[in-house]
Amino acid sequence: MSKVKKKVKLINIDLDKCNGCRACEVICSAFHAEPKYSSNNPARSRIRLIRDPIKDVYLPVYAGEYTAAECMGRDNYTIDGRVYGECAFCRASCPSRDAFKEPDSGLPLKCDMCEGEEEPLCVKWCLAEALTYEEREEEVDEEVAVAEMETGLKALVDKYGLESLVDIMARMAEKGK
Ligand code: SF4
Ligand code: SF4
Repeated sequence: MSKVKKKVKLINIDLDKCNGCRACEVICSAFHAEPKYSSNNPARSRIRLIRDPIKDVYLPVYAGEYTAAECMGRDNYTIDGRVYGECAFCRASCPSRDAFKEPDSGLPLKCDMCEGEEEPLCVKWCLAEALTYEEREEEVDEEVAVAEMETGLKALVDKYGLESLVDIMARMAEKGK
C-alpha cells in the first residue's frame, strides 16, 4: 500500500491554565467574519468555551466533523474533582446542540487551523498560554487519506444535496482567488 505524507497540526490544551477569558472565541469569529475582522460573534467561532466558574470548569473545545445523527450514548467525565457535563469533550457539529453551527445558515463550522496563517490565531491570542501549537509530519496509507476525505464529503452531501454543496464550494473557490 502506498504511503503519503500528512502534516499534523496539533494544538495542546492545558485546562489548568485556561482562565475563561474567551479571547479565543472572539478572534476566531472575527477571523472568519465576512469581510475578515468586520465583526465578532462567539456563536460563529470554531472554538467554544464550556465555562462554569462556580465549579472551576473552563474547557475550550474545537469544532470537528459534521455528523448527521446524534449518538445514542452520553459520557460524564470527572477530572481532578471537576465534573464535565455530557457531550463536553465532543467536537462534532451534531443535531443535538447549537455549538459549531453557523447561526444564520445552520451550516456546520469546523476548525480550519486558520488556513493561511503561520500559527492558529486562538493560540496567539491566548495570553494565559492554555493553548500551544506544534506541527509534525506523519506517513499514512494513501487509501486512508482518501477515505477520510470521502467520509466528510458524503456527510455533507447527505445533508445539503450535491447541487448546494457544489455551489458553496464554487463560492469558496471564488473568494480564495
Ligand atoms: S485554529 Fe483558527 S479556526 Fe481553529 S479554532 Fe483556532 S482560531 Fe478558530
Ligand atoms: S483564550 Fe486561552 S485562557 Fe482565554 S478562554 Fe481561550 S483557551 Fe482559555
